[in-house]
Amino acid sequence: MNHRAAAKIDSYSVQFRTNMWDRAAKETIAAAAGYTSDNQRKVRKAQGLCKWCFYMQNDRVGGTECTAQPCGLCGVAQHFSNTCTDALCLQCAVQEQLCKRCGGDAEGRVRRIWKPAWPAPPKSPR
Ligand SMILES: [Zn+2]
Ligand SMILES: [Zn+2]
Repeated sequence: MNHRAAAKIDSYSVQFRTNMWDRAAKETIAAAAGYTSDNQRKVRKAQGLCKWCFYMQNDRVGGTECTAQPCGLCGVAQHFSNTCTDALCLQCAVQEQLCKRCGGDAEGRVRRIWKPAWPAPPKSPR
């Protein structure tokens, strides 16, 4: 069993926690409003992201380790300054209307069968 020390409860901790959840709730509500209205569609499309990744995943926390991950379609080398990697390169994401980050459909269409719209170039050696 894991034993933890008792939480320290005082005026400061109560105020700190309350401010924290209040801010988190407001950010979540604003993100959900953006998701619903897609009011930054142009910016989102330019970044090659789906609504979920653009509006709801702004607090991605990655490890501080430089990470390389090839694009899932064309295999081009991608380098990231942390462990938050993207599934696709921007060119493939825009071309295929997929999300650069998660690889899902950029417009949220549920497709039973997915085929690349453009033939992908041969994958580079990994
Ligand atoms: Zn690619
Ligand atoms: Zn996504």
